[in-house]
Amino acid sequence: MFFLGEIFVDIALQPTPAVIGHCGTCSACIDICPTQAIIAPHRLDARRCISYLTIEHAGPIPSELRPLMGNRIYGCDDCQLICPWNKFAQRSTLPDFDARAGLAGSQLVELFAWTEAEFLSRTEGSPIRRIGHERWLRNIAVALGNALRAAVDATTADVLMAALQTRADHPSALVREHMTWALEG
Ligand code: SF4
Ligand code: SF4
Repeated sequence: MFFLGEIFVDIALQPTPAVIGHCGTCSACIDICPTQAIIAPHRLDARRCISYLTIEHAGPIPSELRPLMGNRIYGCDDCQLICPWNKFAQRSTLPDFDARAGLAGSQLVELFAWTEAEFLSRTEGSPIRRIGHERWLRNIAVALGNALRAAVDATTADVLMAALQTRADHPSALVREHMTWALEG
């Protein structure tokens, strides 16, 4: 599993050999990608990648991609999860990578109700915090809209719609637009 990052150091490191390909005829990551962001072997159109759209991208999420995002509100990684090489991946021993109580297993409706202060305190020390409360709400609004489209009964739909409507007066036009999209179904 990859977790991309850069560390700046002031010591001279010996270069390691370039990584060589081990994919063979596999195309599982290309096939599984919900938005067809991997446009060819070794080529990713980041503009379609859910990890980019939910984390790095600041503006509106393109409408045509929203239905494909399902309930992914921060990143995706389906391409890594499907990769056969990752059956050899070892669980990290660093506590930073552990699932957090209050985030893992939470309902979208609960997460959407967080105030900005709650968002900041509950994501303290997590990379999630850097997207800020506005993008957090934008992402969850999309997921709630997708849940609403898939709702199996009227009670569930009512709960989802009520949650979305709580943000009708949110000061951010970005949040309001995604909320409106979600309600329009
Ligand atoms: S993270 Fe998700 S959306 Fe991005 S390339 Fe991988 S499977 Fe596709
Ligand atoms: S799923 Fe893994 S092995 Fe298969 S093509 Fe993608 S990166 Fe290569």
